[in-house]
Amino acid sequence: MDVSAPAEATAASQLRDRHDIPDRFKWNLSDIYPDWSEWQAAYDDLERNIGAYAALQGTLAEGADRLLAAMKLSDDIGQLTYKVWYFASLKYDEDQRDNQINARRQQVQILFAKANQACAWFNPELLHIPLPTVQQWLSENAALAVYRFAIEDLYRQQEHVLDEKGEHLLSLASRFASTPNDAYSALSTADVKHPVVTLSTGDVTLTYGQYRAILATNRSQSDRRLAFDEFHRLFEASVNTYASLFHSVLQRDLFLSQARGYRTTLDAALHGNNIPTAVVENLIATTKAGSEPLRRYHRLRKRVLRLDSYHNYDTAIPLVDFDRKYPYDDVLEWLPASVKPLGQEYERQMRRGLASKWIDVYENPGKRSGAYSAPVYGVHPYMLLNYNDTLDAVFTLAHEMGHSMHTLLSHAHQPFVYSAYTIFVAEVPSTLSEMLFLDYMLERATDDRERIVLLQHAIDGIVGTFYTQVLFADYELQAHRLVEEGRPVTAEGLGEIYFNLLKSYYGDALDYDEQSRLTWARIPHFYSTPYYVYQYATCFASSAQLMKQLTTGSEAGRAAAINRYLTLLKSGGSDHPMTLLSRAGVDLSQPETVRAVVDQLDGLVTRLEKAIALP
Ligand SMILES: [Zn+2]
Repeated sequence: MDVSAPAEATAASQLRDRHDIPDRFKWNLSDIYPDWSEWQAAYDDLERNIGAYAALQGTLAEGADRLLAAMKLSDDIGQLTYKVWYFASLKYDEDQRDNQINARRQQVQILFAKANQACAWFNPELLHIPLPTVQQWLSENAALAVYRFAIEDLYRQQEHVLDEKGEHLLSLASRFASTPNDAYSALSTADVKHPVVTLSTGDVTLTYGQYRAILATNRSQSDRRLAFDEFHRLFEASVNTYASLFHSVLQRDLFLSQARGYRTTLDAALHGNNIPTAVVENLIATTKAGSEPLRRYHRLRKRVLRLDSYHNYDTAIPLVDFDRKYPYDDVLEWLPASVKPLGQEYERQMRRGLASKWIDVYENPGKRSGAYSAPVYGVHPYMLLNYNDTLDAVFTLAHEMGHSMHTLLSHAHQPFVYSAYTIFVAEVPSTLSEMLFLDYMLERATDDRERIVLLQHAIDGIVGTFYTQVLFADYELQAHRLVEEGRPVTAEGLGEIYFNLLKSYYGDALDYDEQSRLTWARIPHFYSTPYYVYQYATCFASSAQLMKQLTTGSEAGRAAAINRYLTLLKSGGSDHPMTLLSRAGVDLSQPETVRAVVDQLDGLVTRLEKAIALP
């Protein structure tokens, strides 16, 4: 994730062209398909399978064999989908200026919409068969029994499944579902004209990467203020367009939740994973009540940085100067060493991944920004980075590697139907991977300066991954409530919600700027995946609890915790996430789980207060 965590980024150096970067730093997509003609052949296969699936309509009631045939064909389609989609999508991310590849990517998206239509008959037809009949089939047919959880979960969701006509209509409407996000991407990335700002250090083209780098590295407050003002001006210039796009997201969510008969958009978002809405409400309330350590940290920063006033653009600058570079090749050794607490086999598998061209390491012109791990079923996970030798980039790699190991274990231990884990669990291994890496780095740190930097990194991690995400979740919830209650959605109103939230979290620790009313307009998750970010926070709380179990207590206790944790990773999506987590020893319905993070931050700020007095 790259939403908000403050970075110790440096000003970017001159970009290398992609063909000048050695192959060992680039992912090898020929593990998916050797070339576009193989891709096209797979695409044609996929299209045929989708047609064959449509032809199964009307057969399910004939018995277990027919249901099994439909489930298996659906698996075949799903497996092919991963490869066909990711080959085009990953190629596109290498250079997003390539219109030909973009066209192929869109071709797959159109096929997905077709697939949705071709599969729309399945749920209503299955649910027409009484559950006891299907359960009888499940107990008599071992091959079908594999699908028990998936099938029974469909019956659980039955009250929100429409009849065939209704499902067909919704599948047609799905063609517009991504339009607001596509338009947001075009507006904020492809069409944006980055201004050139004159800082005390010279002229800089203010891309988002440069903006973040300035806030994270430039010691002049007036430079940071100028960058902040100019960057927000970009959003100010189109703020009504952003508001209108976000409004479309809210209306789409309302439409879908109402069409399916949910009480609220939050209910609709959580029902799929069987998460009680109380988890989100409790998360927001408990975190808001625990904002004091956050304020204490920022008051400390203001004192250490010797600032008369302390603003949003002052929250990312490091407390001490630290320009150590972390060359990629060093990290290739440290990262596997950091996961020793998870056992030899885990470490061995990670080393194999790091040596096998799964990772696209460096930035090049046109390359997608940020970082992600892509779970290409039947091949292996791929990772996109924009590695720039900073500590932040190192932790990003640790994070994405956590996702990739989760993918690897889940794909290896689950049948296809359960191979994908839910996003509710997804950020647990990535966060835990970062925590293990932090421990490793704190242990091997040779000087106080590096220790302070690492402590700040840990604290900024909690602020960015936990507090900021809960603030975002709060914002999304309030914004969705506007449309649910039939109230107007305007740029001004959205700004007001965001501004008030900032104040309720940061209190008197921050001096506020009017431009902060615009910050919501930039957050990609609000457009791409609403009601997503709260899971960073619940995952963070889960990881904190797991980390404690994995690294403290008796040897036998730790061994049992490792076992439970690896079982979680191997479980994929084979049960509801709250069930999987509770088997791993985490209960998110308890305020204590959330408060554990608040206490953790409190402890880290205390350590930092002591450490900072030394140099
Ligand atoms: Zn992540």
